Amino acid sequence: MNDRENLLDLTPAQALERLTAFMRDEGLPVYRARQVVRHLWVAPAREFAGMTDLPVALRERLEARFTLPRLTVVAREKSADGTEKFLFRLADGEAIETVAIPEGNRVTLCISSQAGCALQCAFCATGAMGFSRNLAVHEIAGQVREMRLLDPPIPVTNVVFMGMGEPLMNWKAVDPALTILNDPNGLGIGARHITVSTVGVLPGIVALGKRPEQFRLAISIHAPSDSLRQELMPINTKYPLAQVIEAAKVFDRRVTFEYVMLGGVNDGEEHALNLAALARECRAFVNLIPLHPGGARGFTPTPGHRIAAFARELRAQNVEVAVRKSRGVDIAAACGQLRVERLGRRTPRATQQHGDVDVKR
Ligand code: SAH
Repeated sequence: MNDRENLLDLTPAQALERLTAFMRDEGLPVYRARQVVRHLWVAPAREFAGMTDLPVALRERLEARFTLPRLTVVAREKSADGTEKFLFRLADGEAIETVAIPEGNRVTLCISSQAGCALQCAFCATGAMGFSRNLAVHEIAGQVREMRLLDPPIPVTNVVFMGMGEPLMNWKAVDPALTILNDPNGLGIGARHITVSTVGVLPGIVALGKRPEQFRLAISIHAPSDSLRQELMPINTKYPLAQVIEAAKVFDRRVTFEYVMLGGVNDGEEHALNLAALARECRAFVNLIPLHPGGARGFTPTPGHRIAAFARELRAQNVEVAVRKSRGVDIAAACGQLRVERLGRRTPRATQQHGDVDVKR
C-alpha cells in the first residue's frame, strides 16, 4: 500500500502513459486510461470511488495502486471585497496559503510554491517565518484543483505565483506544475493567464524563457538601486539589480516589474526617475503595489495620493504603469499573513537553505 503512485505528481501526458500501461497489464481497454486522466484535473474526482463512469472493480484496482492526495482546507476567510483566503494543511502538517481574487468575470488564484520562504524580504510576512520546504508538483497544481472541488466550485481563470515562496527556487516542481496548469488535459488555463513572480532568480528566468508557452514573468524590483534593494531584499547580493535587468532584457516576452510602495523608503521622485530608466531599458510594464499592512513590521504604506503621483512620474517618462488595488486587507491576505495569524510566528528555521536552485537543461 505504501508504494502506491501519486498520479497528481505527473503531467497529464505522463499520467496517460502510466495508466495506459496499467490498463494493458490488467487486460483492460486502454480508453479507460483517458477516462481516469480526465478525473485528475479536467473534471477532478475526490477519490477513485467517485469516478462513476468506471466499473467498480476498476476503481478498486486503481485505489490499490495509485493515490490522488488532497490538500485539507483548515481555514477559509472571505473579505468584504470578495477576496477569499484559504489555509491548506499538507500531508506532513505544513501549512500553505492560497488567495482567490474575483474581478469582473475573472478569478485570479494566488498560489504558493514553497512552505515558508528563505529570502527574508524586509516587508514580507512569509520571509519572517523562514523556509520549511519546497512544495511538490501536486501541492502546487492541487491548489487550483481544490478550487474545482469546492461546492460550489471557484472557477479559476488566472493564476499568479504570488503566494508563499519563491517559485524559481523550486523549478523542479514548478516546471511540471506549469504544464499541468496549462495543458488542455490538465487545468486548461491559458499560458498568458499564468504569471510566475520572482525576486530575480537568474537560472530560473532562463529556464522559464526556454519554455515555448507564453507564460508571463513578473519580477519583484522594489528598489531602483543596489544599495536600497540590498536592504529590502537580501537576495540582491546573489542576484544584483544589473543582472536581473539584463535577464529581463533578454527574456523573449514582455516582463512586469513589481514595486511595493514603502512610505518614505522607495517612493520619492528620484526613485521614480531611476525606476523609469530601468523599466524603459527592458520595456517592462510596472505594477505599483500598495504595501499590505501587517507584513513584517517597521514599514508604513505610501499614501494613495503619493502613489498616484509616483505613477504620473513614471508615465511622464513613457513607462506603462498600473496601480494595483489592495485586496483582502481585512482578511490579512498579503503574502504569509494568514498562516502567521493562525500558527504564530515561528522561529525561522533553515533560513540558509534556499530550496532547489538547480535548473535542468
Ligand atoms: N517570491 C516571489 C513571489 C511571492 S511574493 C516574489 O518575491 O516575487 C509576491 C509579491 O508580493 C512580491 O512582489 C512581494 O514582494 C509582494 N509582497 C510581499 N509582502 C507584501 C506586502 N506586505 N505588501 C505588498 N506586497 C507584498
